[in-house]
Amino acid sequence: MAGDALLVVSAHVGDFVWRAGGAIALHSRRGFDVHVLCLAYGERGESARYWRDGMTLEAGTGARHREAMAAAEVLGATLHTFDAGDYPLLETQELLDRVVKLYRSVMPSIVLTHTERDPWNGDHETAHTIATRARIIAQAPGYDPGHDVLGSPPVFLFEPHQTEHSGFMPDVLLDITEVWERKLEAMRCMEGQQHLWDYYTDVAKRRGSQAKRNSGPNLGLPSETMGEAYQRLYPQVATELA
Ligand SMILES: [Zn+2]
Repeated sequence: MAGDALLVVSAHVGDFVWRAGGAIALHSRRGFDVHVLCLAYGERGESARYWRDGMTLEAGTGARHREAMAAAEVLGATLHTFDAGDYPLLETQELLDRVVKLYRSVMPSIVLTHTERDPWNGDHETAHTIATRARIIAQAPGYDPGHDVLGSPPVFLFEPHQTEHSGFMPDVLLDITEVWERKLEAMRCMEGQQHLWDYYTDVAKRRGSQAKRNSGPNLGLPSETMGEAYQRLYPQVATELA
């Protein structure tokens, strides 16, 4: 699959690890050029431990940057940080333009981002809006003309922290067993959110169990299957049903 690229649009630095670390490691291993965009660091809203330890905003941002760099390296991804600020993350014209530019530079064949709804975290909703809006703009020949335009890469929404109230209905279960150790190592880079390490290990076990249940008894999934759940935003295009 050399030549294909995967782009992950993440609101904060932890999000891409918990929700899509397996997909990132898997596609990197398959030869995809994998890029992770963190719109913000999550320095205000997703760095609880640092604030409890009396850290300043500046020091917290630096710590989260180092965590994200380490996690991206473990997963085999190139990290882009736009430092747009969190709580709240705001959709500005400048930020949108930067994301469009990144789309046209990476030319992803697959896009991963947040769900449209997340009543617990408005930044995730904003990141969804920016990711999907920028994708559409990047397709328009009339926007910043003279550059190659984006095609129509499928968008997969990754799992929010509170699934039901975010309207998340998974229709893809990804077997991440072969890269599980990498995801675990990347999660452990997120020292500001240690309370989530066990939580997302449990989520991976549960999604793995559901993957086994939906793959039939003879497809050979390992007994300790680990999984990630996704929901397609747009219809799948196919020439046959499989
Ligand atoms: Zn987040």
